[in-house]
Amino acid sequence: FLIVTTSVFLSTTSHLHTLATAGAFPDDDDIFALDIVSKIRTDRKSTIKASMDFGHIVEAIPNGVLHPTSPNDIATLIRLSLSQPKPFTVAPRGQGHSARGQALAPGGVVVDMRSLNDHHRVVGRCCRMNVSTHELWVDVGGEQLWIDVLHTTLEHGLAPRVWTDYLHITVGGTLSNGGIGGQAFRHGPQISNVHELDVVTGTGEMISCSPDKNSDLFFAALGGLGQFGVITRARIALERALKRVLWVRLAYSDVQSFTSDQELLISKRSAGGSGGFDYIEGQVQLNRTLTEGRRSSSFFSPSELDQLANLAIGTGSAAIYYIEGAMYYHDDTASSTSVKLETLLEELSFVPGHAFVRDVSYVDFLDRVGRDEQKLRSAGVWDVPHPWLNLFVPRSRIVDFDAGVFKSILKDTKPVGLVLMYPMNKDRWDDRMTTATPDEDMFYAVGLLRSAVAAGDLEQLERENAAVLEFCHREGIGCKQYLPSHASRDGWRRHFGEKWSRFAALKRKYDPRAILSPGQGIFSAAG
Ligand code: FAD
Repeated sequence: FLIVTTSVFLSTTSHLHTLATAGAFPDDDDIFALDIVSKIRTDRKSTIKASMDFGHIVEAIPNGVLHPTSPNDIATLIRLSLSQPKPFTVAPRGQGHSARGQALAPGGVVVDMRSLNDHHRVVGRCCRMNVSTHELWVDVGGEQLWIDVLHTTLEHGLAPRVWTDYLHITVGGTLSNGGIGGQAFRHGPQISNVHELDVVTGTGEMISCSPDKNSDLFFAALGGLGQFGVITRARIALERALKRVLWVRLAYSDVQSFTSDQELLISKRSAGGSGGFDYIEGQVQLNRTLTEGRRSSSFFSPSELDQLANLAIGTGSAAIYYIEGAMYYHDDTASSTSVKLETLLEELSFVPGHAFVRDVSYVDFLDRVGRDEQKLRSAGVWDVPHPWLNLFVPRSRIVDFDAGVFKSILKDTKPVGLVLMYPMNKDRWDDRMTTATPDEDMFYAVGLLRSAVAAGDLEQLERENAAVLEFCHREGIGCKQYLPSHASRDGWRRHFGEKWSRFAALKRKYDPRAILSPGQGIFSAAG
């Protein structure tokens, strides 16, 4: 076995092999280390695949890609790295759907987390998921896709409470950031809905943690940008799932009414806060998107798009806005849910005649961006650069942000992509978690989710992003980046603010040689 493994190893990973045969690993780890090496691919096809992400902006080639078959393989790889005089970096990669190289490992080893799932399928087991119908949680491997978590939990009539808009990304990937979506106003982000984690730390230890056990690691890893360890299991809170959804879009021609209604809906003052909409998001539609160029939508019919274009032209404003809401229901509560929706709409100030309602299945609603993906793929505009910028904007400055960004910097921008804008309640976030949020009770998630399709788009979108960040800085808006990217250590210090010293201390404790997730660019690997 050793000879076979070693020869594969020799022919493919000569660098690592040299280390292994030079006695670089502690004795007990020898066998594991050689076994690990057989799971590292260094062929060009593998390394090229792991050198790029959804953003298509940053490229960095690793030396190898580990295909683990168990969390233990990841621990062994990390210990192998640490046994070197100059450790190599290690980046867990979920779906690689980051935008700026966060899951890359230049010159290091990328851990292809999805292999954990593939291995289980090969050995005849479905996947690393276990549902407790009694205690309402699911244990899932960090490599699992949320879409698979949805289908597995639905078999038991249950589902997680909070979803990202897109479900073809991994549990470990979203929990390393936050995991936000239209249910977060009520339940908090996905990281507020986790009971336990298993983490392989940057010291190569496998540690179980929760709010009561190894709590510093638990709160560090949630939103921790992969800096403290690799999440290999998460216990996620569930609720009873409903079958159908009334999916609503309400159009507004001015930002004040739009934001007042959103804030009313997520507060406890309205039926929206206490049992109205189960999901609340919002979009900013820059008018050129409606009045010029390609106009198609997976929600609106062509005649509704005409109606919205007329609204945009009629108001002469640079943007119109939609609140997007969803009410879940069972077949037997269909009529009472319709009545509830009508009552709720009466509280709101959208443009009369501009409420659009769809009745869809729960799964179709949650997987809506998965369907958009298929369309974008067939149109050849999925694998293009995505210079996305996501910001958390304090509620008190959202109207200033709207004026400076949508009505000024982006007023004449090319209409490509989607702009999201919706509020959340800060009391649903646990401040012990790592994610940085503005210092106000309510803040908005604003996503400039734009794609560079034509020549010159990328440069233009990057210039606009820089102008938006500059505007926020100059005007003291108090934004925090979500899915952050900062070029300097000072940028990261400012990003984390008073959380920085704790962040750095936990890094020294759980990844003292700074080998994990180097693509985030927060720490440099220690020699
Ligand atoms: P990757 O890109 O593979 O990794 C992200 C980071 O996490 C890297 O630093 C990586 O090293 C680290 N990491 C990966 N796995 C682990 C692990 N198991 N343990 C520790 N660290 C790990 N986000 C939202 O919050 N809400 C949304 O609605 C939303 N919609 C999106 C829609 C689309 C179309 C896309 C492409 C992204 C969206 N995102 C959204 C962003 C998404 O949540 C993040 O980019 C997420 O990181 C993607 O998961 P991934 O599995 O691809 O992670």
